[in-house]
Amino acid sequence: MENCLFCRIAAGEIESNKVYEDERVLAIHDINPVAPVHILLIPKEHISSLHEVDESHTELMGYIQVIAARLARELGLEGFRVVNNSGATAGQSVFHIHYHLLGGRDFRWPPG
Ligand code: 5GP
Ligand code: ZN
Repeated sequence: MENCLFCRIAAGEIESNKVYEDERVLAIHDINPVAPVHILLIPKEHISSLHEVDESHTELMGYIQVIAARLARELGLEGFRVVNNSGATAGQSVFHIHYHLLGGRDFRWPPG
């Protein structure tokens, strides 16, 4: 996906502040953090949103949570949120699936 921001970041064409990377997943600091810890967990495979996810993605989607849990432990986060916005009405602005790992402050429920 040549015009996809996160595909271009994953390919190294656009700079990012990397937290973690392996062959399947990239974790970067969000450019506009809304919490003291705000990391984006991005699969390298282009999937536009959770709307597109099916059984073929089971392992990858589970793996992203494993990485989220590992980063949360490494960062010593006591409480944290893993958030996915699916679709523009839910707040999605980059249409390459990603999870927000948020921590370092108190959170309210329900989210806005
Ligand atoms: P969404 O709104 O799609 O759930 O989340 C997209 C996130 O990507 C936003 O929190 C936004 O701040 C972040 N973002 C947008 N452009 C860039 C960028 O070029 N670099 C990084 N690191 N984050 C970005
Ligand atoms: Zn993409």
